Amino acid sequence: MDGAGLAQVRSTCPYCGVGCGVTLRADGAGGLTVEGDPDHPANQGRLCSKGFALGETVGLGERLLAPRVNGTETGWHEALDLVARRFADTIAEHGPDSVAFYVSGQLLTEDYYVANKLMKGFIGSANIDTNSRLCMASTVAGHRRAFGSDTVPGTYDDLEQADLVVLTGSNLAWCHPVLYQRLAAARAARGTKIVVIDPRRTATCDIADLHLALKPGTDVALFNGLFAYLRENGALDEAFILNHTTGFDDTFTRASADDPEITGLDRRDITRFYQMFAATERTVTVFSQGVNQSTRGTDKVNAILNCHLATGRIGKPGMGPFSVTGQPNAMGGRETGGLANMLAAHLDLESAEHCAAVQSFWASPRIAERPGLRAVDMFRAIGEGRIKALWIACTNPAVSMPDADAVRAAIRACPFTVVSDITPETDTARLADVLLPATGWGEKDGTVTNSDRTISRQRPALAAPGLARHDWAIFADVGRRMGWTDAFDYRSPTEIFREHAALSGIAGRLGRDFDISGLADLSDADYETLAPTRWPVTATRSGGRFFGDGRFFTPDGRARLLPVRQKAPAAARSPKYPYRLNTGRTRDQWHTMTRTGLAPRLSRHLAEPFLQIHPEDAAALGLAPADLARVKSPLGTAILRVLVSEDAPIGTPFAPMHWTGETAPAARVDALVAPANDPVSGQPESKASVVAIERYDAG
Ligand code: SF4
Repeated sequence: MDGAGLAQVRSTCPYCGVGCGVTLRADGAGGLTVEGDPDHPANQGRLCSKGFALGETVGLGERLLAPRVNGTETGWHEALDLVARRFADTIAEHGPDSVAFYVSGQLLTEDYYVANKLMKGFIGSANIDTNSRLCMASTVAGHRRAFGSDTVPGTYDDLEQADLVVLTGSNLAWCHPVLYQRLAAARAARGTKIVVIDPRRTATCDIADLHLALKPGTDVALFNGLFAYLRENGALDEAFILNHTTGFDDTFTRASADDPEITGLDRRDITRFYQMFAATERTVTVFSQGVNQSTRGTDKVNAILNCHLATGRIGKPGMGPFSVTGQPNAMGGRETGGLANMLAAHLDLESAEHCAAVQSFWASPRIAERPGLRAVDMFRAIGEGRIKALWIACTNPAVSMPDADAVRAAIRACPFTVVSDITPETDTARLADVLLPATGWGEKDGTVTNSDRTISRQRPALAAPGLARHDWAIFADVGRRMGWTDAFDYRSPTEIFREHAALSGIAGRLGRDFDISGLADLSDADYETLAPTRWPVTATRSGGRFFGDGRFFTPDGRARLLPVRQKAPAAARSPKYPYRLNTGRTRDQWHTMTRTGLAPRLSRHLAEPFLQIHPEDAAALGLAPADLARVKSPLGTAILRVLVSEDAPIGTPFAPMHWTGETAPAARVDALVAPANDPVSGQPESKASVVAIERYDAG
């Protein structure tokens, strides 16, 4: 209790992957006061605008308070009996691969664990994928190709210990604001040099010593050029390459074949960047959606990793490649296998030994033994009638998926769709046959893992409203109704977490990176008071960095340098579609605004959807500031307010992806985005759509 007599609860912000700790005080009338937790290692008391406004986003206004079947309120028993029966009947008639779960990086680890166990271990399909596919799948694939595991080598502290921080495809100032605050403070204190690589001039450039506004999609050429430069200028760590990597010669040959001038950058700027990188041992390269959301995303990740591996700058203080995740529990989803191509605990679906180990641990009747459908392919399969029962949890794909109009049509056409969420007022929820009320942030109870592998508790400060239940409990209840009574007999998130931690111990014994077996025996009381803890957590190891010792998770223990080639984005500009549309986030909104849209102060920053466009493009199109523009791609149309700015490069306008069919009916930007995937990661290309633009006259 604090001085005012109100109980203080420590929890974690539900937005980005920084994973800031918050302290919550319920006011007794359904409201919450939210402050930064000074003891949380991620933020040390800081919050950004979204975190500060969290208290404005709780309340019963648009909550789903009871299950609904075909729009009619019903009880849990009727709703869950129906869900279990329809899934069981569909599986019996069409096989396990005829059903699918599409889940979310907003789910807690315990939710993810149970959903993945139900699909992969008991239904026997790997058709569970997540909106994290849109966020960091290319990083997962790049890590696994280079390290043999999906391991983030470093920690947030590295950004403060580095002498050079390269931010590529990362608008840290808006998308990971507290990490940006930490970096800006470190720069002020120790003079950290900062390079921003981004076609657009973003707010992050405010602290940049060098902004490289490369042409969209030319990242591989830039980093291949760096690799070749490092070799030619004697800046490699020959001993590290010799003792701890494979593939150097092929990688160097391939890298030398790319001309970095394809980036469109001034040669002097390229050389300055290369000189800075070569001369600075303590270098961290941060990358995010600008790298990942690409049909070449995995190659871009590996081009970055190649440069760090060849210089031995990995897993040491102030050194390393660093992927920052977009969602609060993207990492927890990776740990529990909530992606269609992963097993639980960072184990491999492709490994018979790993599959057998997980099946034995779960005592399950079967186990998925091949990858399932990744997000884009999943919704394509739904549209083609191959998926006949779908469960969407805690996400809004009718707005956020590429080719959103087709996704909406696919969900509408699916014979049976379940949506579990906190509100019936999303574009996706409106398409559901069965709506299940889930608890939301402030009510949920479990754990999340942030971008530097720190596991934090989300604790409830508010009671679940109406009949809302935790997502793990809903999935478990359906599992029991489908006949797997013992396997889903969970009474608390603590039981699930202990099981998750115990399974990770098996992964550890199989030589995998993700091992939190040291938490497998947590008591209920210890779980309740669990402080932020970075994995791994074993009998011999707690937290820290990976790979500083040169040992990787590949069969031979060496990292793989990978030859990667510069390739253009999938869609080519044409006279009909002469512009390349970049999409992304704004500072104060989150995803499809289900929560941030409730906070009035957050709408003051940028109140409506917009098209940021260079003055030369605007003049050529006859567009003036505040005009409306019709933006057309081969797939869809959006009407957006014109924001003329030199921050957008010529020919490459930018539009935010937050606004939905509810908030701005003609501004669903993902309806413009083609469902073109990276062939390795399955991540769609959300930042390089081709569009035509014209003035729109509302009259
Ligand atoms: Fe929340 Fe991210 Fe802001 Fe931290 S930086 S308060 S985790 S949105």
